[in-house]
Amino acid sequence: MSDSFDLVMHYPWLPLLKDYYGEISEKSPYDFISDFLSKEFKDEIFDRVSEIFKAAFDNLENYSYYKLDHSNVYLYILMKILLYILDNKHITNRIANLYSKINYYDLIEENDYNTFQIFKELNLDIQYSEKEIQYGLKITKDYFIKLETNFRIQILDYLKLENNLRDDYRKLVNMPIKNGYVYIQKRNLMRLIQEYVRNKILEVESEDKSSIKNLRKVLLKIEDFKELYYKIESSWKERKEEIQYFEDTGFIKAENVNIIYPPCMKEILLKAKEGQNLIHIERLVILFFLLALNYPVEEIVKIFSYLPDFDKEKTTYQVNFAKNKEYVPHACETLKSLDLCMAKKYDDPICIDGYYIKKRNEYKKINHPLSYVRRRRFIEKVKADFQNKQNENKDE
Ligand code: SF4
Repeated sequence: MSDSFDLVMHYPWLPLLKDYYGEISEKSPYDFISDFLSKEFKDEIFDRVSEIFKAAFDNLENYSYYKLDHSNVYLYILMKILLYILDNKHITNRIANLYSKINYYDLIEENDYNTFQIFKELNLDIQYSEKEIQYGLKITKDYFIKLETNFRIQILDYLKLENNLRDDYRKLVNMPIKNGYVYIQKRNLMRLIQEYVRNKILEVESEDKSSIKNLRKVLLKIEDFKELYYKIESSWKERKEEIQYFEDTGFIKAENVNIIYPPCMKEILLKAKEGQNLIHIERLVILFFLLALNYPVEEIVKIFSYLPDFDKEKTTYQVNFAKNKEYVPHACETLKSLDLCMAKKYDDPICIDGYYIKKRNEYKKINHPLSYVRRRRFIEKVKADFQNKQNENKDE
């Protein structure tokens, strides 16, 4: 068995899948499942798939019942078909997070040769040197630590992978670069691959609802598959009851979010609502903002309950902690530097042009999301007063 065949069995998201498993990966979902049902390991894979979904619904960080063999490829394809027809962003996000984490833990255990091969298979320009190269020094209180690595990745490839990871320390300006290559620790390299895997799972999302519906109808004619599908669906329904929708809480109403909140906050809330895994800074930004608007702790916890790694106890503690510390919400300048300003994306005139102050006959720029909220509330009040006056006039 070749090295690359072993790799694709272990990591079926590699493009190599087509070379070794083209016969099954390119089949129609119906043919794939019909063929799969004749395999001796079918029951085992069904169990493993439903366990993975359950683990994702329970927010597990890792999942131990994960076997690395030939059947792993079937599991991967079956999981993607299920996600496609379940057509639920929350579920897809949870599976994408869990599955990519499982792969991350395996990847950091890989030997350097396989690590190098994986990057080659992904068509990424990576350089490996047997002897570690020193690329910097970390200064601690009492001593210096040499920063060394065996790996370098070409700048453009780094940017391609880092695109969705907006943590500050991963930005290119904070990375050691020499001769067009970014020096990077193996662990951080694998974190980039984790993101690649996550995106491979998210690929199943589609807006073509009629194709999804048709395929679902066809596949649910297969008895065994139908049983698996409904098992997963009912396990999600049980879990979903614990997730409380913020439109329904009466406090953070969707229409208020649309009208009163600035685009930067709308964007984060929307991502949370879809069950996307918010990065650390996004969590802080929305938390400080809502606390400044005096939202009760339990209402904020409800928003975080959408996130794939939600833990009620931990979140409640953290929200209370932030409330007691009275952290100041981030200003526009900071949000812009963090790439979280969404003024252009939402084409919001108040954020882009500022607003007119009649008394002073001047335009004022928005420099804080809270100023935006105040301005929007003022506009809404003026509109409501005007409407009331018109109604009174009609009555007279
Ligand atoms: S201008 Fe300020 S309030 Fe508006 S989207 Fe950007 S960061 Fe948010």
